[in-house]
Amino acid sequence: MQVSETRSVCCYCGTGCGVIIETVGAKVGSKVGSGETAKIINVRGDPDHPANFGRLCSKGASLHLTTQRTGRALVPELRTSRAESRVPVSWDTALDTAAERFAAIIKAHGPDAIAFYISGQLLTEDYYVFNKLARGLVGTNNIDSNSRLCMSSAVAGYKATLGSDAVPCSYDDIALSDLFLLAGSNTAWAHPIVFRRIEDAKVKNPELKIIVVDPRHTDTAAMADLHLAITPGSDVILYSTMLHVMLWEGLVDEAFIAAHTTGFSTLRDKVRELTPAAAAATCGVAADDIVKAARWFGQAKAPLSMWCQGLNQSTHGTSNNAALIHLHLATGKIGQPGMGPFSLTGQPNAMGGREVGAMANLLPGHRDLSNAADREELAALWGVPSIPDQPGKTAVELFDALHEGKIKAVWIACTNPAQSMPDQTKVREALVKAEFVVVQDAYADIETATFADLLLPAASWGEKEGTVTNSERRISRVRAAVSPPGEARPDWEIAAEFARRLGGKLGEKLGTPKVLPTGRADDTANRLFKFNDAAEIFAEHVGLTVGRDLDMSGMSHAILEKNGPQQWPFPQGAQGGQARLYADHRFATADGRALFAPLTFTLTAEATDARYPLRLTTGRLRDQWHGMSRTGRAARLAAHEPTPRLLLNMLDIERRGFKPGELARIKSRRGEIILPVSPSDELKPGQAFIAMHWGARSLSHAGVNQLMLSAFDPISKQPELKAAAIRIEPV
Ligand code: SF4
Repeated sequence: MQVSETRSVCCYCGTGCGVIIETVGAKVGSKVGSGETAKIINVRGDPDHPANFGRLCSKGASLHLTTQRTGRALVPELRTSRAESRVPVSWDTALDTAAERFAAIIKAHGPDAIAFYISGQLLTEDYYVFNKLARGLVGTNNIDSNSRLCMSSAVAGYKATLGSDAVPCSYDDIALSDLFLLAGSNTAWAHPIVFRRIEDAKVKNPELKIIVVDPRHTDTAAMADLHLAITPGSDVILYSTMLHVMLWEGLVDEAFIAAHTTGFSTLRDKVRELTPAAAAATCGVAADDIVKAARWFGQAKAPLSMWCQGLNQSTHGTSNNAALIHLHLATGKIGQPGMGPFSLTGQPNAMGGREVGAMANLLPGHRDLSNAADREELAALWGVPSIPDQPGKTAVELFDALHEGKIKAVWIACTNPAQSMPDQTKVREALVKAEFVVVQDAYADIETATFADLLLPAASWGEKEGTVTNSERRISRVRAAVSPPGEARPDWEIAAEFARRLGGKLGEKLGTPKVLPTGRADDTANRLFKFNDAAEIFAEHVGLTVGRDLDMSGMSHAILEKNGPQQWPFPQGAQGGQARLYADHRFATADGRALFAPLTFTLTAEATDARYPLRLTTGRLRDQWHGMSRTGRAARLAAHEPTPRLLLNMLDIERRGFKPGELARIKSRRGEIILPVSPSDELKPGQAFIAMHWGARSLSHAGVNQLMLSAFDPISKQPELKAAAIRIEPV
């Protein structure tokens, strides 16, 4: 049996591990619906990929077990009324109907009556086409991504301090560091191959220190030299108190601060008040441990901070990020080997989405929607009259507007908001209220598909071509090893085909074939979306980055084929990418100085009280990914944690009269769910934990997000998915 091999990238976390896909009978490029029997039979780590050098975690190593057709969306399905079920239709009917419905709504209510909600799991090329469709053709900024739930606080934190949404570090820095500060990240489970590097570094240098900041004593915390089990939401106070100690003990670099930063005196005045004794009470950790953490950080030659959702998913996520980055700026420990603030991206291509600007407040090439010059420049590059200046709706705002009837139609691609958004009752009501819901996804059995008036089958991992960018700014080629099943098509191709048809329908609706309601000429759609393949889209995308901080104009699909994965910046004429940013300590601000940003010193949006006395946090398990639409199909992965549980400290279980394994009714101010209680010595008394992965497909309720609140950070607009107040009652 002839086995073929295709190099690609794991489709789960932002580590971005290279994989080699083994197939039999594969014949990529066969026509849609041709019935090819090509099959993925195995996946192994790519020894040449610089993100993982051949290693894979349990999820990546099980990818071949998740490629069955069961549950896949195979043909377009449409329902003409909510009283009916969807029935299979042709692609022509599906896309013409969608174009007709969207055009009618745009004509009647304006471009902002529609929205696109897309995903950090799309490829960069997919992301780019959707963004161009929304802003360039329709004329709305109502395009946001599930990256809003994941990385938007890191984006805002980097911009507020370093001037740009650019991770300054590389994975190679892990081997060169002598102190790791792992904050709000169970790296051992959520980014396992990054964690293997940390373990390797510790073995090589047992003297290096690991500080873990996490309310839970996770597997990551288990190998820490110092675990700060802080009260959820107290991050800004912790890091600012560490800065207080560093100031007191002369561990800051006054010369660096004077030469390369702005705003320190204001912050210094504020942190003077923050004594370790006072912070200990708020943060729930010993004052001596805060002092120890500050000393270790301040005395380290090369401290490396790595963080994830524990910092980001907060109503002050931007401040959480900034307060941690401040430690690097105050000590000058940034821009050199082994050191710096290194945000770990949750999804495989959250970074690519940020590069193409496919979030409501961003524009391609790290341009800002709020910047008139950036809007004008983009309009000129795309050849459209203008880019709308009205802010687009971010994730929570978008579903709120759908609920209020201000947005009437939504196009959801490669994400499952009917499980992943907080305050599920409201989100589900919004989807019911919408006039028209399009769901474009590889899977027909995800929760959100229940609400779809039109379901469009999308190609998935191993079936499409493009690129992704991992946590260290490294762009890798994603390749098709087999053809998509049924009539599924690549996401960018569906978006581009819809765009061309929408352009035509908008012209017809107006009865004036030369001008669309948005002011675009009627041939705009065909011109804007004349892409033959993903390589052409990538070429256009990198062309928009020329001269900007992320300049990747030296890259192309062909270069990536020839030279392998590359980091940006990589301008035209360069021989390779750049591993580390800010080596010269000139930052991406107008005057080149980094900023000490104003901070918000508040705790969680919802405090515990007598009615809701338990503090709930959420998170990932080792062997599952997001809503399990893919990992849930591999029996091997279910063995680690077969069913969801409410984890509590044994004292809380006994105090409330429960026995381990007994079902509890778990209530928050937004809803209730029923799960068995289970004792965990990872948690302090008063704290609770539920994994994020299970939803209505396997439970009688929408999962833990039924309980979580939609309050969000006013700057990053990222909702506080990590903290809610709950109580438990007998069932
Ligand atoms: Fe995939 Fe992340 Fe595991 Fe690597 S660490 S194999 S990218 S899930």
